[in-house]
Formats: sequence, structure tokens, C-alpha cells
Amino acid sequence: MDTVQAKILDGKKAASVIKEGLKARISKLPEGGRPGLAVVLVGEDPASKVYVGQKEKASVEVGINSFVHKLPAGTTQPELLALIEDLNCDPRVHGILVQLPLPEGFDADAVISAIHPEKDVDGFHAVNVGRLWTGGRAVEPCTPKGIMALLDSTGIELKGLNAVVIGRSNIVGKPISAMLLSRHCTLTICHSRTKDLPSAVRGGDIVVAAVGRPNFVTGDMIKQGAIVIDVGINRVGGKLAGDVEFESASQKASWITPVPGGVGPMTIVMLMKNTLELAGIKQTPGT
Ligand code: NDP
Repeated sequence: MDTVQAKILDGKKAASVIKEGLKARISKLPEGGRPGLAVVLVGEDPASKVYVGQKEKASVEVGINSFVHKLPAGTTQPELLALIEDLNCDPRVHGILVQLPLPEGFDADAVISAIHPEKDVDGFHAVNVGRLWTGGRAVEPCTPKGIMALLDSTGIELKGLNAVVIGRSNIVGKPISAMLLSRHCTLTICHSRTKDLPSAVRGGDIVVAAVGRPNFVTGDMIKQGAIVIDVGINRVGGKLAGDVEFESASQKASWITPVPGGVGPMTIVMLMKNTLELAGIKQTPGT
């Protein structure tokens, strides 16, 4: 397929459509039946504070009850675990999210494990990770869930396509790999030890870049007509940059996500969607 200029996969627009659907559903619920999302922030990390603020704002906008717990940097692990236990038992709370990264000294794995799997709105608990890989009813992590929604919005049949994922983190790379595999893509996962990464990426009908390095993926690595999903959020000279060099990649791709306005807004709206799902509120397809 010859492509001159890629079509933009507009995450901001897609997220706002989904958000309106969620809002409409929640508005029909009785006041006491609204879903609740608890977000826990430990310490003063500026980026984490911004992310927590965005999540709180989005919750309020769609009508989810937001419970934000801001704990000082001096909080101890047992104190944090005690709060999680309280939230596990709180019937008003359907989703619990602990903002990562935690300050030094915390055992993030133990903290994630303490969240009840049925309230694990981020889908990071080992039970949900296991269910995701074994095809069970998992809470799907928000960023990969948002990526799948963007891919589906292209209308392209994913079955049988070669998907190349760059990055193997528990938050993005591994779960998006599981989800692409479950949709019958043929999968390649690249990471920092991959030999000849450019040639691996050139085989991708779908390329998902989750590396955390600005402009890491260049147009010469992109197969003509590929769908390019840029997950990266990098700050370069006060501006946001993705992991993909947009200018050159958009000359080759059929579809591409911008940064900002691509995967980021989808991540937040999927957090809202997961909260509703955990509250047991059924949704109509497409919302
Ligand atoms: P991690 O740092 O946890 O993982 C990065 C991955 O990239 C690792 O698997 C690493 O390989 C790989 N990598 C690093 N350098 C290279 C290299 N030179 N060649 C090949 N692979 C390399 O990051 P995350 O997955 O958490 O996030 C990735 C990016 O996505 C970040 O910019 C982050 O800010 C952004 N992000 C955006 C979200 C959104 O909503 N838009 C949500 C979450 C993250 P190895 O495993 O071998 O070390």
C-alpha cells in the first residue's frame, strides 16, 4: 500500500466520545449507586501530581466519586498497606489506583499485591496479569486497553498482522503484547538487548513504541502502510515528544498517533471505563 501522509489516530477525540458515553450512563444511576475510584499518591513527585490531578478531574467530569489520598513522602510501607486494606473494604470504592512510581524505599510489588484483584483498576495485580495471558476475565491495564481501542477505530482487521512492540514493561509492553496476541497478531517484542531492532521494526504492520526515548523510531524503520502507535511521553526542552519521529514516520505509516493527543487521553478514559466495569455497571458496545 502506497501512503504519502498518514491519517491521524486522534486519541483526544476518541477519548471524548467514550467519555460522553460513560457520563451518560453514570448520570442515569442513583446518587448512591455511582462508581468510586480511589487514587493514592505518596510523596511530591511533580509528574505524579499532574497525573493524579488529571485522573481526579476526569472522574469528576464523568460523575465517578473520586477519593484522592495524598500521603506525605515520610509515609511508611505498613501505613500505605493499611490504607489499601481500608479501601479494599470500603463499599464506596470500586477501583483502587496507587500512583507509580512510589518513592524510594517502597516495595511496589507488595503494594500492588495488597490491592484486591477485583478493585485493581490498573490491572497490575498478578491475578489480573495471569488472567490477561491465559485469556480469562482480566482487568485490562488502561494504556494497552486504550491502544486497542485506537487500533479498532481504524477498522482494520488485526488478525494475522505482524505486530512489533518496542518495550517490555509491565505497564505497557507486556500487556499490549498479550492483547495483540489474543487478537491473533504475530508478535515481535523488542527491548534494549534486541539485536538489529530497526529490521525487526521494519517487519511490523503495527508498531507500538513504548520506550521512553524521544524520536527513537524513525521513518526509515517503518514499513509502508504500517499503523504506528506512539506511547512515549518525553519532555524535551519543555515540550512533549513521543518515541516516534512523527515527521518521517507519518510519511510511511497509514495511521499514526500524535503526541500529545494520542494514547495519553485514551489511558485516562480507560481508567474511567475500568472503574465502571469494576462497579459492575454494564456498558453498551462502543462506550
Ligand atoms: P519503561 O522504562 O518501564 O520501559 C521501557 C522499555 O523500553 C524497556 O522494556 C526497555 O528495555 C526498552 N528500551 C529502553 N531503551 C531501549 C533501547 N535503546 N532499545 C530498545 N529498547 C529499549 O517504560 P514504560 O513502559 O513505563 O513507558 C514507556 C514510555 O511510555 C515512557 O515514555 C512513558 O512515559 C510512556 N507512557 C505513556 C503512557 C500514556 O498514557 N501515554 C502510559 C505509560 C507510559 P529493557 O526491558 O531491556 O530495559
